Formats: sequence, C-alpha cells, structure tokens
Amino acid sequence: MSNSGHPKDQGDRRGLMLVISSPSGAGKTTLARKLMEEFDDIALSISVTTRPPRPGETDGVDYHFKTEDEFRGMIRRREFLEWARVFDHLYGTPRADTVAMLEAGKDVLFDVDWQGADALHDQMPRDVVSVFVLPPSIESLKSRLAARPGSTDEIVERRMRDAKAEMRHWRRYDYAIVNDDLDVAYQRLKRILLVERLKRLRQLSLEDHVRELMGEA
Ligand code: ADP
Ligand code: 5GP
Repeated sequence: MSNSGHPKDQGDRRGLMLVISSPSGAGKTTLARKLMEEFDDIALSISVTTRPPRPGETDGVDYHFKTEDEFRGMIRRREFLEWARVFDHLYGTPRADTVAMLEAGKDVLFDVDWQGADALHDQMPRDVVSVFVLPPSIESLKSRLAARPGSTDEIVERRMRDAKAEMRHWRRYDYAIVNDDLDVAYQRLKRILLVERLKRLRQLSLEDHVRELMGEA
C-alpha cells in the first residue's frame, strides 16, 4: 500500500483484529484471501481444528489439524484466545503471536464463527473490528456450498440448517456486507479496513506529533 508520503503517515500504528464471520459458504474465506493478497501487513490467524482436512487444504496453511487429545492439551495449557465446538468439531484461535503482531503494527485477520467473534471481542475489545458477510440469497448460498471441493448432499443440507443459526447473530457485528458481486463486496471490506486503521487510538505516532505541534516535545 502506498500512502501520501507524509512522514507522520508512516509512524507507529497499533494493528487491529479484523474478525470476519458468515454462514459457511457465504464467502468469508474468499474475501479474507483477497485482502491477504493485496496487503502484506495483514496476517491470518491460523485456527486449530479437530476436523479432518478437506481436499486441497494444507496443514499449517488453512488450519493446524490436530487430534481431539492434542486439542484438549492446548486448552489445558491455556494456549487459546478462544475455542468452540462448531458442527461436530473443535476449533480454536491460538493466543501466541497475536499480541506481538498487533504491537508490531500488523493487522490480524480472524475467520471465526459468531461464538469466536464474541469471545475475541471480550478478550480484546479495543482491537477487534468485526464484519459479518451475508449471502445475496439462500439459493446462492446453497449452490456455493455445493460447488466447494469435498462437498456432499449431507454436508450441504446440514450447513444450510446451521446457516440460519449463524445469521441470527449478525447484529452483534460492527459491519455487514452482502457478498453478491465479489469485487463490490471486496471493495467494501477494504474500505472498512482502511478507515479503521485511521482510528485515533491506533495512530500511536500522533501522540508525539501533537506534542511537537504544541511545543511540548
Ligand atoms: P466461507 O469461507 O464463508 O465458507 P468460501 O469463501 O469458501 O465461503 O466460499 C464458498 C464458495 O463460494 C467458494 O467456492 C467461492 O469461490 C464461492 N464464492 C465466494 N464469493 C462468491 C461470490 N461473490 N460470487 C460467487 N461465488 C462466490
Ligand atoms: P470450516 O470447517 O467450514 O472451515 O469452518 C466451520 C466453522 O468454524 C466456520 O463457521 C468457521 O468460521 C468456524 N471457525 C473456524 N476457526 C475457528 C476458531 O478458531 N474459533 C471458532 N470459534 N470458530 C472457528
């Protein structure tokens, strides 16, 4: 990303936690990937899960795939910022690195369900910016789910039922985006990121700048 070139624009900033949720299949992973491609100062928080990998998924890239025993050990050692049972499996957000990333001025992206979004907000209320992605229609949600690699009729039916349970929580989020045209939805997500970065409390270098302006430096 370029900026205006003013030295104060390049000063310290505190990273933010961009939390994206949606009913499964609405497109949050696709949107998150596009953001990661465009911005090199955003890192994805890679969740830990006990569900088996889908075709094309890689351990350590899409998720850290663990057994239930390993997952329970991580809970005991307090290695999660949050964890939850979603569908038949356990999912959790590792605590390590997130705070360090924020302090280094990097944003951290979270692809979690509403329970995860709530828990992350409870833990880090000033850092979390939450976005709920909605499908344009129930039919398109169903066809997107069916088109996904590894999908079966049973999985689609189940996830369609669970979609309503997830969408019920959309009002808890700071922002909502309807993912109809992907490019339009992506531009909206990007605008949210850029404006949230300008929040006064995230622009750490402005403290010094204002002191200087006031002759107090
Ligand atoms: P989620 O992470 O919310 O479960 P994905 O990002 O995996 O959803 O998207 C589900 C499927 O829908 C994928 O095959 C993806 O390529 C497709 N998809 C995502 N956004 C759009 C869109 N705006 N229009 C059409 N297809 C889309
Ligand atoms: P999937 O199995 O389709 O990748 O994800 C299923 C659901 O689990 C999605 O709604 C996803 O957002 C959620 N999920 C993924 N990682 C986490 C996590 O670390 N914590 C919580 N609470 N939910 C997660």
